[in-house]
Parts: sequence; structure tokens; C-alpha cells
Amino acid sequence: MKLVFDHIDFTVVGHLQSVLESEGIRTEIRNEGASRAAGELPISEVYPELWVLDNADEARAKSIIREFREASNNTPPGPDWTCPVCKEHVEGVFSECWNCGTPSPDRPEV
Ligand SMILES: [Zn+2]
Repeated sequence: MKLVFDHIDFTVVGHLQSVLESEGIRTEIRNEGASRAAGELPISEVYPELWVLDNADEARAKSIIREFREASNNTPPGPDWTCPVCKEHVEGVFSECWNCGTPSPDRPEV
């Protein structure tokens, strides 16, 4: 197993996991509760970590992550949106409703 990414925000790690899985790379998240349980800031300095199970996937995983990070940096966040389930107003930087976890209905795939 190889650690390929970690980030203070679990939603970013979770999103990258789904990106890698969609590329056929098997992954595992560790320290999943590190930031989520504490809300704003983790109590410890342990961040959620994204690991690839097969060491052979490490280079490809890292290049996918790098492309994803560059694309996110170059693309301004989408417009604010309204959750279709609970009607909460959600800022465009979030791909999921902060209140109930519903994914944005029209978020473009990265
Ligand atoms: Zn919601």
C-alpha cells in the first residue's frame, strides 16, 4: 500500500477516492473520522489519508491527483446551489450539501 494523498478536509479525500476508483484504482481511506468528527479543525494533526492498495498504481494515482488539483485551482468554484432534498443554500465550493450530504445535482464531473 502507498499513501498518495492527505488533506485536512475529508470531502476532498473522499472525492479523490471516487475519482481514482473510477479509473480502476483500488483505494482505502484511513483516519476517516479525523476531521469530520471535530467539525472545523481536527483535534489532532492526523488528516484523512488516501492510500492505493496496489503499489503499481502509485504513479498513475499521483498523476491523476495532480491533474485534479491543478484543474481545481484553475477553475473557480461553481455557483451556489440549493439542496434538492432539504432546500439548504450551499456554497459553490461544496459538492455536497453540508446539511444532509446530498451531492450537488448539476456538479460537473471532474
Ligand atoms: Zn441537503
